[in-house]
Amino acid sequence: MAYSYEAPVSQTLFDRASLVTPGGVNSPVRAFRAVGGTPRFMVSGTGPYLTDADGREYVDLVCSWGPMILGHAHPEVTAAVQDAVARGTSFGTPGEGEVALAEEIVARIEPVEQVRLVSSGTEATMSAIRLARGFTGRAKVVKFAGCYHGHVDALLAAAGSGVATFGLPDTPGVTGAQAGDTIVLPYNDLDAVRAVFAAQPGEIACVITEASPGNMGVVPPGEGFNAGLKEICAADGALYISDEVMTGFRTSKAGWYGIDGVRPDLMTFGKVMGGGFPAAAFGGRADVMAHLAPSGPVYQAGTLSGNPVATAAGLAQLRLLDDAAYAKVDAVSAELRALVGEAFTKEGVAHTVSAASNMFSVFFTDEPVRDYEGAKKQEAFRFTAFFHSMLEQGVYLPPSAFESWFVSTAHDARALELIAEALPAAARAASEATA
Ligand code: PLP
Repeated sequence: MAYSYEAPVSQTLFDRASLVTPGGVNSPVRAFRAVGGTPRFMVSGTGPYLTDADGREYVDLVCSWGPMILGHAHPEVTAAVQDAVARGTSFGTPGEGEVALAEEIVARIEPVEQVRLVSSGTEATMSAIRLARGFTGRAKVVKFAGCYHGHVDALLAAAGSGVATFGLPDTPGVTGAQAGDTIVLPYNDLDAVRAVFAAQPGEIACVITEASPGNMGVVPPGEGFNAGLKEICAADGALYISDEVMTGFRTSKAGWYGIDGVRPDLMTFGKVMGGGFPAAAFGGRADVMAHLAPSGPVYQAGTLSGNPVATAAGLAQLRLLDDAAYAKVDAVSAELRALVGEAFTKEGVAHTVSAASNMFSVFFTDEPVRDYEGAKKQEAFRFTAFFHSMLEQGVYLPPSAFESWFVSTAHDARALELIAEALPAAARAASEATA
């Protein structure tokens, strides 16, 4: 597909990057492989806008894949970071910032009695799985197809459809042994979960699920799904782990837990809680967390865990996220969803705007999507045309049809207007696209 616009400086940077970095990027989805074209190298961000190396401004609907819920370079977060940096950037000792951030998390999310800070969502889920295995003395882990929990070896297994499939590695480098204790089930299918527990009583350490999935596009849990998981786990002595790396502190003050109220044994967090810095966490029941070193025997550690700059950014961001901030993000999301839906309807494009609180994505199908198989049935080629039209008109969307869109408190009337102006032509491009 040829694009009628160019990004010469980004192209030069991408060429340079491709010589020294695999695929030219430090995280695969940034490379635009799903949509084609040259990834934009961004040089600055302010509020809802990003500016690329060619000097073009975009309304940002990625928000760093979730973290920037207050927009870019929020003055109070920036001030907190500057203040922290001036006092030194890492001590390798405990510090008050970590305590304050942990207290903020515990205060917001009732099932979290104790929390351990780490540096990425991947580290959080990896550590939570290890702890669940150490606590229960069991090996097996249940996950759902289409749920992403970072690039943890044991969780990079998403076998195809079927009821109870033993995990096969999704990527070279993950051995059969690493993925062999992973059981991958279809999302939103409690019968499949019941069947697997019935077949292997007392063997499953935990079920890990995205609290509300955003990594196959946005596919919220069906009524009673999370509660059912919790019940099945409790009956068997397995732990229920809710991965809130994406939903945590975004979908409400207490994340998805604040919406469905299902009490996990362990939870994982990242993204918003780091304020744009590498900070993440896992936490939950105090009796389970007590098994972590140095209180208990399950080892887990990190040179930069609880880093003073990252914790200052995260804490400043969380303290600004009051009820009014969530009301604003929810309102922006609702308005944007309506605009997007209207544009596609007008052009006769089959679509479903699928939302979970203020997270949403568009599936190019009018069938309701309940799982990964359903998500894959959409006409994803329409997204490519839509994406490039929006990009050309100055709106930066996630470069994949299988990712959530993210908005912030900074998305004001002007930003929404710019998106509204871009939508008709982009919806037309989607309607005219061919596979
Ligand atoms: N869990 C979920 C639900 C995620 O969406 C992600 C990342 O997108 C992760 C875990 C991994 O987080 P990180 O990219 O910080 O390692």
